[in-house]
Amino acid sequence: MKFIVTAGPTREFLDPFRFISNPSSGKMGFALARAARERGGEVALISGPVGLDPPPGVELVPVTSARRMRDEVFRRLPGAGAVIMAAAVSDYRPARYSRKKLKKSGGRVSLDLVRNPDILGELGRKKGEVVLVGFSAETENIVDNAAEKLKSKNLDLIVGNDISAPGSGFAAETNRAVVIDRTGVVEEWPLLTKNELAERIIDRVLTIRAGRGRS
Ligand code: C5P
Repeated sequence: MKFIVTAGPTREFLDPFRFISNPSSGKMGFALARAARERGGEVALISGPVGLDPPPGVELVPVTSARRMRDEVFRRLPGAGAVIMAAAVSDYRPARYSRKKLKKSGGRVSLDLVRNPDILGELGRKKGEVVLVGFSAETENIVDNAAEKLKSKNLDLIVGNDISAPGSGFAAETNRAVVIDRTGVVEEWPLLTKNELAERIIDRVLTIRAGRGRS
């Protein structure tokens, strides 16, 4: 089965030297790519800038901006069995890009931002038979917010985590996740390493995919 996994942050440049981004480490996406490969998958790992080596046997596709990430995902979508969006995509990018370094001036400066493509939302509208998995990083109402995202983006599975809890979130080695599927079943998983969490998610994806084959 072909997997598309996204990882890491995106960078949205305002000039050649400055960008908007977030502290995503890429660890969750890289762990998912490894787990999918270990289950025999053919894996394209589309990643923003992170300091990690790709797992053996995985095709690494480095990208910078959300728009490039979107294009690389959709280029590979035909023939894919699952798309797992673990990347922390910047929701906004600067409205203008300056080819020259922006000069400082005396007073206040404000930055005009525009919305980036919602990659997961677009996948949900076009997905066909693909198993679609999203992540939901929350600081409150994890279950409600994740369930709402699952529905509005037409996902098969959503992995919610509390990024403010100890041992969870961006740079941590572990994650405590709440996992919700299309039938509305909510599972609260214990604190797991990102590798353990990845293996459980890939197992769920394969089960959903197998069920779809039978129907
Ligand atoms: O709405 P929120 O950003 O919390 O949604 C998180 C999920 O949506 C993640 O799976 C993330 O990879 C994906 N996402 C996306 N495109 C965006 C923002 C988030 O695909 N512009």
